[in-house]
Amino acid sequence: MNAVFDDLYELYEEYNSHTNISAIRNKEEVYQKHFNDSIAVLEHYPLSGKIIDIGTGGGFPSLPLALVNPELEITAIDSVNKKIIFVNQAKDKLKITNLIALNARAEELAQDPNYREKFDWSVSRAVAELSILLELATGFLKPGGKFIAYKKLDNKEEISAAKTSAIKTKLKLIETRSYDVDKQFLVYEKIARCPSLIPRKYQQIKKNPL
Ligand code: SAM
Repeated sequence: MNAVFDDLYELYEEYNSHTNISAIRNKEEVYQKHFNDSIAVLEHYPLSGKIIDIGTGGGFPSLPLALVNPELEITAIDSVNKKIIFVNQAKDKLKITNLIALNARAEELAQDPNYREKFDWSVSRAVAELSILLELATGFLKPGGKFIAYKKLDNKEEISAAKTSAIKTKLKLIETRSYDVDKQFLVYEKIARCPSLIPRKYQQIKKNPL
């Protein structure tokens, strides 16, 4: 177990004991499935600059990434406030200065000029189907920016179902890379600016995926 995460683990365990932020509670599993999985991306991709984590939940991958790489400028967002309260508490207690955590919906924040097309990288773990994720991510990315989805292996169908979404969101699949035993990073590059109506309101995204 990586000792860098020991203080984070204590905070996570204490908060999760009274407010549910994740079903993963066994210590070894927390290190493996949350902490180490979050930072696995750094072994494969040269993350740098401004990064947005969409649907961070209890701070994954944001908190471990911010802890191990103080150079990254990370914005973590989630629509559930109790999770963001934890991320902010952990950030303050661990004196993490390269992370901003916001209670926000991705599809709304991506239409805010302060956040639109401002990020070099977007990451997202266990949040939604790819076709939806692409719509949520693209508005945040600068042209040339990249989106990385942490996924389980064997998602050919999901990738295929997201083909139209990829075209409309101006995101091009540039790589699928397996890591760990049964996981995969799907990497998309933003090849042009996307239409201003994207992302749409969540009801429309859900009801009528691109
Ligand atoms: N990324 C974390 C992880 O891997 O442990 C959390 C995963 S959790 C299964 C999915 C999270 O995405 C939830 O906390 C949910 O509130 C958030 N979420 C889903 N749709 C969202 C949206 N449109 N905007 C912001 N957060 C969203």
